[in-house]
Amino acid sequence: MKPNRFNLAIAIVLCAGLACNHPGFQAPSGDRADGPTPDAAQATLPPDSKETLVEATTDTSTPGLIRFVGIADGDTLVASIDKATGFPTAAVRIESDSDVSALSIGLDANGLMVAHVGYEASAALPYQRDVIWTPWAGNGEYELRVSLLDWDRAHAVLSSSTVRVQVTGIPPGTPTIHEKFIQLYQQLYGLNLSAPAFARYNKLFPEALDDARWISAAYVGDSVYEIAIFDDGQVANTTGLLNRDDGSFCRPSGTIRMLAVLVDYGNTNVTIPELEADLSFSLNRSNQRWEDYSRAIGLAEPILQVELTTAAAGAPVSAGQFLSADEIRSRTGYDPASFDVTVEVDIDAANQTVGQYGGRGVSLGGGCRPSGSGSVNIGMNAEAGGFQPGGGPGGSIFDHELTHGMGWMHWWPNQYADSASWIQTYYAWDPYLFFGWTDADGDGVIEILDASPYGLQ
Ligand SMILES: [Zn+2]
Repeated sequence: MKPNRFNLAIAIVLCAGLACNHPGFQAPSGDRADGPTPDAAQATLPPDSKETLVEATTDTSTPGLIRFVGIADGDTLVASIDKATGFPTAAVRIESDSDVSALSIGLDANGLMVAHVGYEASAALPYQRDVIWTPWAGNGEYELRVSLLDWDRAHAVLSSSTVRVQVTGIPPGTPTIHEKFIQLYQQLYGLNLSAPAFARYNKLFPEALDDARWISAAYVGDSVYEIAIFDDGQVANTTGLLNRDDGSFCRPSGTIRMLAVLVDYGNTNVTIPELEADLSFSLNRSNQRWEDYSRAIGLAEPILQVELTTAAAGAPVSAGQFLSADEIRSRTGYDPASFDVTVEVDIDAANQTVGQYGGRGVSLGGGCRPSGSGSVNIGMNAEAGGFQPGGGPGGSIFDHELTHGMGWMHWWPNQYADSASWIQTYYAWDPYLFFGWTDADGDGVIEILDASPYGLQ
């Protein structure tokens, strides 16, 4: 299935809206373990092969389709201060001649996506609009890059244009976004981080349920911390425990041993070998992707790998209920306690179990406990067969629900948090920056492997 922009947008909105109800997030100092992270999104994400991933990273840009209006290199932009957040803001006007629909426009400032807006190809051409953004590093020089993003067909940057400007007018003493997050980690958690990772979550559509925010996440010791600053100035923060018996999340590093049990309701055309092949395809694709990334940044070992054991578990014991650990043991001969994460894939035309969470997949947490998995950590449903490679239940497990199981939330940016990273989210969310897979503090060690992550003092 090749979804159009509308389908994808609605799916993301649905998915994000459900996760927005995640009870742990909005409450200050909440525990992210409080509830499951249900999903409707992955079901309608497009199937992809490795070839299309390569295509997506190839430069297919066409010069000249998009440009800044009224600013040239060396010009000065005078910022003003947003009353709600106290952050500086500036405006640029952009223009595009593209008559292609299903596009959006990303604005990057010094490599960080600071604005993302829909593109209205139906409007009279050239299309023009003003884009408001935050000069996140204070006064000084910014390289602004505006990009026309095709998230329907090529999953690529179609065209982009850059300009170098000087931002002035920010009053002395105004904290940068960086300084604001340093303060908040100190105030909220007593953590002294000199280089926290942060990004902008852009609300692409007014109807999207997740509000725009500045967002930061940090994996420090056995905890993941998250701090959000919303555009009304409200701050929300939450933490979760990693790889502990009383914890909820897997640390996004090392080897995760996964048991996938397949429960067949007998009401579909899905065969067990077909499902096993789908899981295997996606497992290999994700492992390869993590290995490739790890090699590209000079690591000797992959940051993350999953070892998968798959077992058919027969018919459901109780329709609409996950198997218990005892039932898994007696039906498959495998002990969930020997694994870090247990996945149950139901083959059920009526989606009776996972459907109760509002989608086709759900991350229930509780993975990577030292004493082993004690219950189903990820639920997935397959209603009908004929999976496209990577577009079946396996893709939803390895490229979405497991990512939730390591702490990811829908508003975390993909990869490096720039527009080129965003446009690849159709395939898989690998939040390099927020998983600590980059060297945010510049000490030569990526944060997830760093004894003093994010410049911890
Ligand atoms: Zn999700």
